[in-house]
Amino acid sequence: MSQQLTLTRIETLRVLSCMGIDLPAHTKLPDDALEKRLRQALNASQVLLTITSSPVLDILSFSRWPSNKKQTVFDAIGRASMAEYGAIMAKRAMGLSTVDPLRVDPFDDVRQTVMHLAKNWDEGYKVLLVTDPQQSEAEKVPINIRYLEVRMINEHTPLIVLLYGPVASSHSAHREAASMWLEEKLDDIPRAADGSVPMPHIKASFEEQKLLSKLLSQNAKYVPAEYDHQVKRTQAEPASLYKTTFILPLNPLSFEDIGKLNLDTGCVVCGERVSSRCSQCQSVSYCGQACQRLDWSSHKRTCRSLKGGTWFTIPLSGSPEGSQPGKSASVLTWNRFSVPRKALDVKNVQHIDPEKTFPNIHADKVFLIKIQLSAPINPERSMMIYDRQRSFEAYWLLDAETKELFEKFVIEMQGPRGGYAGLKMYRWARRTGDKELSVCLDRAPQESIPW
Ligand SMILES: [Zn+2]
Ligand SMILES: [Zn+2]
Repeated sequence: MSQQLTLTRIETLRVLSCMGIDLPAHTKLPDDALEKRLRQALNASQVLLTITSSPVLDILSFSRWPSNKKQTVFDAIGRASMAEYGAIMAKRAMGLSTVDPLRVDPFDDVRQTVMHLAKNWDEGYKVLLVTDPQQSEAEKVPINIRYLEVRMINEHTPLIVLLYGPVASSHSAHREAASMWLEEKLDDIPRAADGSVPMPHIKASFEEQKLLSKLLSQNAKYVPAEYDHQVKRTQAEPASLYKTTFILPLNPLSFEDIGKLNLDTGCVVCGERVSSRCSQCQSVSYCGQACQRLDWSSHKRTCRSLKGGTWFTIPLSGSPEGSQPGKSASVLTWNRFSVPRKALDVKNVQHIDPEKTFPNIHADKVFLIKIQLSAPINPERSMMIYDRQRSFEAYWLLDAETKELFEKFVIEMQGPRGGYAGLKMYRWARRTGDKELSVCLDRAPQESIPW
């Protein structure tokens, strides 16, 4: 079977989902619209559009990364969100490996490969192979990489410039070009004592290889023609098969980015302009009956649990002052950091000013929230509210204006649809404003909730 380094539709959806952008599995969004969303997501992850506003990245305008060992490219290139940072610290404290297993999340796999690329550069390697060890020799579609140089966007942001390929159109042409390149490079690599040639390589799943290939190819378009012309190519690296490209640190997407990429999805099935909502629950929008029918099997569970429910609008605010020692009144968000993994510390935690709005990653979609009542001994009565992704963590503070509604929520929590010792409940909600939420109070979600 011929193997191509191109993400299939299902794989593209999976990558988007791993990046936090959830589209229905049976979406009819055209391939080019899906591809565009992935391109935007990868650009957002690289913060590329804040580095260059033009369609080219002027590589030569950045100075070279200093070759002293004080700050390695590896140390600078890692990025983590607050949630990931917490997980890394917990693993470290338990003495566990902080490297996640391959083949779980292709986006995470590529982020780890970027760190490997940096490490290999620091160790002085000039070339590298990215292959899937689970594929047979005949199936393998290696990505060959030769380092050109590393430049410095700023002291935390290296720019690794590479030549990669082959970008052949058929599997056989790819394999032929790849092995020619390999033969050429093997001559330059010192032989080990047993006569073998230790070719540096990175293990990748096939899906990850495809995503990496996508990233390399979309970044190649940002390389200025003048830069490309001065790259010295060997015989096995013709411009038709090997492209000049670059790698930047890959950040987990910020909630603002996810919010933007989840916006304007139109009909939940096909992305076309919407004309109606589900009349049973009002929670999803469609372009017409055909799409609504197609979506029923996945929507019915939510729909049945919402049908006939009563929605109330509640205010959101920052945490009650003084109720959490050491925390200010601001809201902690688990967000993207433009600092390396190593340099992360509490100072880098982003706070949201309570006067500001809460990020909205859900657009106008219905999502699950967890509502937790403050402990009865706490003199200040409040409810803490957050979503699965913890894209926001907000409070509803008991005040004269909403006292009656607040009590209604407490009664619901302590009633038969509540549970959890009457101190918390899960409910469906929808954002109705920057600092408010509409909650379906008298319907408990039917699915099991793992958070
Ligand atoms: Zn539709
Ligand atoms: Zn419905």
